[in-house]
Amino acid sequence: MQNPNYKKTAKDETPGILTKYESLIRLKNLQLEGLKTIAVALAETEDEASFILTVLPIIKTVMSIDGSVTLFTKINNETINISDFSDTAVQKIWGCLITDHGFTEEPIFVDHEALRKTLSRASIPNGFKHNTFSPIFHADTNLGFFSFQQKHPAHYTEDNTIFLKYLGEAMGVFFNTSKLRNELSHAKQRLEQNFNELFAVYSVSKVISSYLDTQSILENTLHTIFSQEILNLDPQGCVFLLNEMTGRLEMAHHIGLPQILTEAETSIPLGHCLCGHAAQSGEIITSRDCLADARHHTRYKDMSQHGHIVVPLKNHGKVIGVLCLYIQAGETPTINQINMLSTIANHLGVALENAQLYEEIKHLSLHDSLTGLANRNLLQARLEEEISRAMRYSEPLAVAMVDIDHFKDFNDAYGHVAGDKILKDLSTIFREVLRKCDLVARFGGEEFTILLPHTDIYQALIPLERIRNMIENYQFTVPGTSQPVQITISIGVCANSSDIAKTGNVLLETADKALYRAKEDGRNKTVSCDEILE
Ligand code: GH3
Ligand code: MG
Ligand code: MG
Repeated sequence: MQNPNYKKTAKDETPGILTKYESLIRLKNLQLEGLKTIAVALAETEDEASFILTVLPIIKTVMSIDGSVTLFTKINNETINISDFSDTAVQKIWGCLITDHGFTEEPIFVDHEALRKTLSRASIPNGFKHNTFSPIFHADTNLGFFSFQQKHPAHYTEDNTIFLKYLGEAMGVFFNTSKLRNELSHAKQRLEQNFNELFAVYSVSKVISSYLDTQSILENTLHTIFSQEILNLDPQGCVFLLNEMTGRLEMAHHIGLPQILTEAETSIPLGHCLCGHAAQSGEIITSRDCLADARHHTRYKDMSQHGHIVVPLKNHGKVIGVLCLYIQAGETPTINQINMLSTIANHLGVALENAQLYEEIKHLSLHDSLTGLANRNLLQARLEEEISRAMRYSEPLAVAMVDIDHFKDFNDAYGHVAGDKILKDLSTIFREVLRKCDLVARFGGEEFTILLPHTDIYQALIPLERIRNMIENYQFTVPGTSQPVQITISIGVCANSSDIAKTGNVLLETADKALYRAKEDGRNKTVSCDEILE
């Protein structure tokens, strides 16, 4: 039994003080360990969930929490972790506190009785005595908060406040880094998407620029468009080109279309079906379902449901055709898809116009402007081709030289305009009588050269004589006189079967010699090389 008169000495207080210091040291150690763990998590963790899982138990232990902890970040505007009351309630309280306190790095400690009095507009949950709202911040910006409730009245030391502030700052750094990481990842995704789109457009454009003739451009462009996954198109489609003479769209190339369609839709008027609409309006037309779309006039047996993107092809703002592409029924084309196709179509429009110009220039360089017949350049090229083919397959080849008789006198009598008309009429007669595989060239002046592949000297004489006869009996009409006029021609012909004529130039020279003989023999005649070799 203790003496009632006994006075306590400092020695007697020692165990109590020791216990107090021991618990303080324990708390300091806990905080220190906790802060160390948070520092490591900050440096090593990228994933938000893992970071929170590391941090939450530390908060619970250091702050001796017996209620729940709620974390709210503004980063993705969501409440993380479990709360004993609704998220909106938490946000409402936080909203009120922020309104009342402004930006703060300091934790806000509130006992519920006081909170009820000061914040009547917030709904305060029951069952808890004390709440702490601890801000998460970075560079003077509030990024959210975590709050925890205690079922017992809480008494926190200044160390607790320092710990919470450090925690708020650490979490702020983490969430800010996480936000930047997310933004970076989105930017990277957008960049990748942009790059892929640009690369697809570049790939198609490169192909468009690689060819000079219309057919190669169309064929290779369509194939390349379909091979771009990012364009997400069915591998079917066609290109219509506008024929300015008829005002109709002519199908210039198609891939993957049913035969029944390519046979029926080779030429369509402006305004007909989606392609005609696009050409008429100059606008891109999209359709999610061809069967339900009243503008889609085309119908054929077993037509499957499909959608369309039809892009006008333009040059200097003028529609020159349309690119008709297929998409899955029910699909809505994306803006990016349309933009990519629009860029491709612009490029294609320019390339097709250039190809047409190139073809016109090429045609001019190989044809005579007065008669439209082949000129000497084309004659020389075809002669070499035909000679080597004839030699390879041991086939006959005949070459004829034709010259109008006394044409100088004709010009003198009727004038050069009348003479030109005769030259044009002759070229028409040549074309009518000869086969497609034959070639007629204007050799120069009033002289013509005819190449007759797969034809020996005897076979050649038949059409040549028919031509000479026709012309002899033809009633030509020329300006300057109402009377029909007549002319005759002389022909010299040679074939590679002859002993001497094995090269193109020798064939031409020998035919020319035969022509000279025809002139000598009185004109209006066909002379074969056999006759001059005798
Ligand atoms: P020959 O029966 O011996 O061939 O007599 P020719 O008068 O036809 O022959 P010549 O070589 O003396 O004259 C050829 C004439 O062809 C001279 C020229 O006026 C005419 N000629 C050449 N090119 C053209 C042309 O593009 N238009 C016209 N109208 N005449 C041409
Ligand atoms: Mg002549
Ligand atoms: Mg002549």
